[in-house]
Amino acid sequence: MAARTVETQLAELRSRSLLRRLNEVASPQKTVIESGGKTLVNFSSNDYLGLAAEPFLREAAKRAIDEWGVGAGASRLICGTLSPHVELEKKLAEFKRAEAALTFSSGYATALGTLGALLSREDVVILDKLAHASLIDGARLSGALIRVFPHNHLGKLESHLHWAKKNEPNARVLIVTESVFSMDGDRAPLAEIVEMKERYGAMLLLDEAHAVGVIGKSGRGLADKLGVANRIDLQMGTLSKSLGASGGYICASRLLIDLLINRARSFIYSTAPAPAIAAAARAAVEFLMSEAGEVRRQLLGERVKQFLVEAPRKFLPTNQSCETDETGETNIVQISSAIVPVILGDEQTALAASQWLRDKGFFVPAIRFPTVPRGSARLRVTLSANHAAEQISALCEALHQLRA
Ligand code: PMP
Repeated sequence: MAARTVETQLAELRSRSLLRRLNEVASPQKTVIESGGKTLVNFSSNDYLGLAAEPFLREAAKRAIDEWGVGAGASRLICGTLSPHVELEKKLAEFKRAEAALTFSSGYATALGTLGALLSREDVVILDKLAHASLIDGARLSGALIRVFPHNHLGKLESHLHWAKKNEPNARVLIVTESVFSMDGDRAPLAEIVEMKERYGAMLLLDEAHAVGVIGKSGRGLADKLGVANRIDLQMGTLSKSLGASGGYICASRLLIDLLINRARSFIYSTAPAPAIAAAARAAVEFLMSEAGEVRRQLLGERVKQFLVEAPRKFLPTNQSCETDETGETNIVQISSAIVPVILGDEQTALAASQWLRDKGFFVPAIRFPTVPRGSARLRVTLSANHAAEQISALCEALHQLRA
């Protein structure tokens, strides 16, 4: 049989409505963008607090370029670690109330490097089924035995822990989950997972990528909100979402961070991020810890609430919902995050809905397999504190007209 060609691979993706294309955006990432000659209200970004284009963040980056130049020169173990990286890590450790922090060039690189550093063939890694691709890839690359539990299923998680204790008594056992899931916007039952990992003597890596800046006082995340942060071995996050910059980080004990410095290949063998990015990220963390940051986070909560009240009920996920009480009042039962999936099912329907909204002036991306399981293609609506109330109302009105 002849080897498949690149053309047939692409044609196959197209025939299954799974082909991806890059859409050029000719303006900064804000709540209104220019793309394909159209002005669109942007409901696609993870820039939940609107910091990516915020003047004080730009200024922090510009000042750092003037002082430190553009490139970092080499990896931090080769050419020395520049002060902006040290200062950012100190600030992150303070923010997450951890002993130490280490930053990487992206969240993806953080997951790959950390899982590879911690785990080897003798170990066991237990992942939530909906864990982000970076965590899955890191687990695979580590060579450890992988066990997967159905999304948020504590019973199955416990049976994997039980199995590992019995059959692999000398293994390091690491549970990996997210506090807010990136494509569903729901939360992990974190307090129960922490209790369970302690009972079985396992370790826990928690990815707070979509929780930082959104959940808890100063946006410290779900672990801090539940008061369990100091019981979590590795708190992972990214600087690219609420923090409006780019890069990823781990907050952990000094010992674990020292191990990562020595063993995380994506840290050791990769040039350090630009110092200006580190300086901007530090300014963003300082903002989160300020009064103004807390006001911005609360505004985001108001925006999410508005969307949940005004969007068609049939599209809302059960994890973030509103209910009508006897008086006819609509009450928000639960807000999990700033991500609201509108699950439509097949790929073609999701693509058509996204295009239909685009024609009406809204950018809401269609998320398809393999990012989400087959048959659960969706529109992924993300809210920002910078959305105007009228922009949210207009999207909700369009969703009411959407026949899906
Ligand atoms: N973890 C989660 C849960 C994510 O959603 C993402 C980004 N999509 C990452 C990690 C990777 O972060 P980054 O974009 O900084 O590489």
